[in-house]
Amino acid sequence: MKICRYDDNRVGRVEGDRVVDVTDALAVLPGQRWPVPPGDQLIAHLDEFVAAAAKVGDSAARSLGDVRLLSPIANPTKIIGAPVNYAKHLDESREDKGIHFDRDIKTIDYYGLFLKASSSMVGPSEGVALRFTDRRNDHEVELVAVIGKKADRVSREEALDYVAGYSVGLDMTVRGTEARSFRKSIDTYTVIGPWFVTADEITDPGQLDLELTVNDELRQRSNTSYLIFDVPRLIEYASSFYTLYPGDLIMTGTPEGVGPVRAGDTINATVAGIGSITVDVRNA
Ligand code: MN
Repeated sequence: MKICRYDDNRVGRVEGDRVVDVTDALAVLPGQRWPVPPGDQLIAHLDEFVAAAAKVGDSAARSLGDVRLLSPIANPTKIIGAPVNYAKHLDESREDKGIHFDRDIKTIDYYGLFLKASSSMVGPSEGVALRFTDRRNDHEVELVAVIGKKADRVSREEALDYVAGYSVGLDMTVRGTEARSFRKSIDTYTVIGPWFVTADEITDPGQLDLELTVNDELRQRSNTSYLIFDVPRLIEYASSFYTLYPGDLIMTGTPEGVGPVRAGDTINATVAGIGSITVDVRNA
């Protein structure tokens, strides 16, 4: 099932180019008191939610083009980033002073992972609002894995059992010398969408084409088979340091072709089998 969040926090079941309002299925979630349990509660109760959402009729479906898409995951406790996780992106980073800033660029097994502030997260319809426009602000298309249940020191063999599904992500980045978590946590610099596809619809997250265009010009095109740390290894690695909770997002890293965007640009990012996000860029 493809599940989106739209307009004023409605939840939708996506069928082709239409969205069916299944917000009433949220009634299966438990009521809450402070302090709320860690994790996104829709994802934590995904099986019950999907069962209820599947029963909603499609008589009042709307066109996807008429709704305002928000991030399908509302409450991740963590957004995890994977630095330099494609070999050809390592090559371009080493060749481009606008990326490396005189640092010796290494790969993910040297850096470990980084965190992006959850306050940086938006949906595709909210757009990206650039700051520090005298510096390079780059696009990075990424496959996003959504964690489905609490994961503490999980092995790569069992890692995919902990995935609820997948989305398309933009890991927007202002280039510079500051730590990644700072440069990549500006408000609107994490775009997630257009919806969340449950894991049963993705046979192999290690064989997905991904691409990104800016104003219809192709900038990035690759396949997740080129990941240095694949999705199971990323889950094993992340959960060896911190517990993952339902709705936590792992942005798996970007392939070669990163480059700058400016106000007025339109980014389109696609991961095959999941969908495409269209994102307008403006100045903050
Ligand atoms: Mn990235």
